[in-house]
Amino acid sequence: MNEKVKIIPPEIEEKLSLANTYKILNSQLDLLLSDKEKAFVREIQEFCIDLEPKIDFAKDVYELFPHYGKRGFMQRLNPWKEFTDAGCKYEMLLAINNGMMDPEMELARTASSILCGNPTFQHGTTPEIQKVQDDLWSGNKIGCIAMTEENHGTDTVNMECHADVVEDGYKFTGTKIFTTNGPKADYFLGYACVDNGDPRGTMVQAILKRDWGITTERLNINVVNRVHIGKTYYNAAKVPKEYILGQPGKGYRYLFDGLVPERLVITGANLGICWGALINGIIYSNMRNQFGKPIMKYQAVSYPFADLLYRVSSATMAAFKIAEIYDEKVLKAENVPKEIHKASAQWSGQIKFLCAKLAAECAYETQQLMGGVSVTDNTRLARLTGASNIQEVIGGSRGVMKLIMSGNLKKMMNLL
Ligand SMILES: Cc1cc2nc3c(=O)[nH]c(=O)nc-3n(C[C@H](O)[C@H](O)[C@H](O)COP(=O)(O)OP(=O)(O)OC[C@H]3O[C@@H](n4cnc5c(N)ncnc54)[C@H](O)[C@@H]3O)c2cc1C
Repeated sequence: MNEKVKIIPPEIEEKLSLANTYKILNSQLDLLLSDKEKAFVREIQEFCIDLEPKIDFAKDVYELFPHYGKRGFMQRLNPWKEFTDAGCKYEMLLAINNGMMDPEMELARTASSILCGNPTFQHGTTPEIQKVQDDLWSGNKIGCIAMTEENHGTDTVNMECHADVVEDGYKFTGTKIFTTNGPKADYFLGYACVDNGDPRGTMVQAILKRDWGITTERLNINVVNRVHIGKTYYNAAKVPKEYILGQPGKGYRYLFDGLVPERLVITGANLGICWGALINGIIYSNMRNQFGKPIMKYQAVSYPFADLLYRVSSATMAAFKIAEIYDEKVLKAENVPKEIHKASAQWSGQIKFLCAKLAAECAYETQQLMGGVSVTDNTRLARLTGASNIQEVIGGSRGVMKLIMSGNLKKMMNLL
């Protein structure tokens, strides 16, 4: 562990403990949770309080994975082994509490267990895919999703990655970028098209292993330096049929279905940043004296905090409600009508957009309200602010979120 040069008084540092941060969080959120959900939150919090002092924040996040896996905290979207309290709201609670403690681990966990792992649960049918899922959710192996390409970011559907039909499977050829965990990954959730002129009809979704013909290169993304994000090359990588999740025609639909839980989990991470920043700022500002009194006594400090607090509280309530609706009407439903699918895409896009912007605002504004100490490693703020930088672009950038929302405006008129 790197030694910190301390400029923060020990009595303030002590009050900024993770345990105190969670205590304040619970005072705000307990009312919105069932007894079972509260018990789950306490379990994660105890885990994070115990883990935080053992983490070397100068090192990559990946050695933490098995610790999360043992406790069933690599994911809670879907039931797995004895960890049956699961669903989108549980997953969101995990993301909030873990994201407050270590937002980089939260990013890597989401990419491995949700973006790569959730499709194995939703669409996997073979023992080979069950093994992939067990490897990912135990934290023993690392997964990623390789969707974005250099010339196809927002326009990811029109990808250049090609799938050749071969005996007993496909061969994937092409290059993906921004693959979170890619340079460290054992498993890649891959997308390629048999006919790149017809992605809707021919997109294939599959799990690929690195040694089937995948190479990677790391990109430097300093704000989340402990996570390896990179370029992924499919060098005519052979995918056996047991690892195909979505055959042509289904791959395209699965890509879009997967974006909804992805955005809701990112919403949880966003809220973790919001609450983490706010609570740290509130504790610090109540204890930091300037001109003979705590800076929180100045309205220049307390009013902006009050403004952020009501917005973060309201966004959290909305996010929980959307997660509950998703659980009831999509994730745990027998049949999902088309209009519910469409509504879930719209709502998840809206709440992700709102919370991603709020995360960046909360982190930045709290830093300005706290002053210089917040950009040092003496508080959790610098870590939260770094991760807040990327929240809007991941899982669908600003433009595509606005595109979804504005598409809805046209549909409203069609009702008349
Ligand atoms: C840290 C990080 C991690 C990531 N992790 C992954 C990952 O694990 N797997 C993966 O596959 N991808 C990942 N991505 C990629 C991410 O999803 C893309 O960056 C994102 O989809 C935007 O694509 P782009 O960067 O190519 O931007 P572009 O598509 O080039 O967009 C640039 C700008 O133009 C706007 N724009 C584009 N088209 C439109 C339009 N039609 N209407 C209005 N505005 C538009 C965008 O909103 C944006 O503001 C990651 C990215 C980052 C930065």
